[in-house]
Amino acid sequence: MVLPEVEELKKYTFDLGPIRPPSEGGSASLLIRATSNCPWNLCTFCSSYKGKRFVYRSVEEVKKDIDSAKAIADLLKALSNKLGGMDWVARIIDPLFLYGKEFEELSPDEMRNYENIALVYRWLAAGARAVFLQDANTLIMRTNELTEVLQHIRRSFPTVLRITSYARAKTLAHKPLEDLIKIRQAGLTRLHVGLESGDDEVLTYIKKGVSSEEQIEAGQRSKKAGFELSEYWMPGVGGRRLWEQHAKNTARVLNEINPDYIRSRPFTPRPNTPLYEAYLKGGFELTTPHERLRELKLMVSELNVTSRVCFDHFMNSWRRADGAFLFKQDYEGYRFPEEKALVLGLIEEGLRLDESTHISAETLAKMPYI
Ligand code: SF4
Repeated sequence: MVLPEVEELKKYTFDLGPIRPPSEGGSASLLIRATSNCPWNLCTFCSSYKGKRFVYRSVEEVKKDIDSAKAIADLLKALSNKLGGMDWVARIIDPLFLYGKEFEELSPDEMRNYENIALVYRWLAAGARAVFLQDANTLIMRTNELTEVLQHIRRSFPTVLRITSYARAKTLAHKPLEDLIKIRQAGLTRLHVGLESGDDEVLTYIKKGVSSEEQIEAGQRSKKAGFELSEYWMPGVGGRRLWEQHAKNTARVLNEINPDYIRSRPFTPRPNTPLYEAYLKGGFELTTPHERLRELKLMVSELNVTSRVCFDHFMNSWRRADGAFLFKQDYEGYRFPEEKALVLGLIEEGLRLDESTHISAETLAKMPYI
């Protein structure tokens, strides 16, 4: 059967960045790259965009990408109607069928086109409900340009209920509240902010480029503007020297913000970062799994929030006696304050087990980061 839509599909590509939060991954979100890389790029633990230049993409470029994603979506829907459902379309999304080649033989352009088609297909099959704006700090865009992009997404994909993005606290803290409200009203619904720590000494040490006061201001402004807010904190990033003040001040800052979600991303040294070099040279002492649990216990004890506290990443690698993860790893986590006692009980359970039951940060450092 001749399928002109298949030839047409091969004409469209759009840009993709390297990362997104796990909760926006898989089939959950269509990824649209609003800016490229990180405008700060100095955090000493982060390797995500190292060596890559920040690019402020033009609205025209971003809208062109949205149009390409829409063209692919429309063609996949047309194929679904013609073939009798999305399950049949899945058979077409295969390098052999599309390009007459094995996956490993694809050219860079074919690979990009294939990734785009596969992403849009998974997203459509899952209901096409969310869009994630990549890369590290979409809020750095001029307000009128970001709202134009958001409106274009809303017009192009009427089924979308949620548009989300990463944002730097520094930018949020200094963006006028009226601008944040405009952006929220144009359709951006959820912000993912890398808090890492609420302790000023730790923030300076890791070159986060933001103070704890600015973190609070950023979080409170985002909430006031009506965003759903996820804050990511990093157990272990204070090392053995600063763990206690890291835990106490992180709880203090989170209490002031009271975000919707608090997500734990334990520190793991990553090659090609200054903190990895410091760790190799003995200038940064990693904490052990039990020490990290004690840090977690202090932080959780001092939390006074109505947030969901989540351990939705495999770097939260503490185990139970049967080898299962100590904390559940879903995206909704534990409801606070109702489940605070439950989380503290799990921490005690982890502390009672021999330390070798858990996976150390040294071992995690050798695993690929997803
Ligand atoms: S702001 Fe975020 S993306 Fe940029 S260097 Fe820091 S952690 Fe990495």
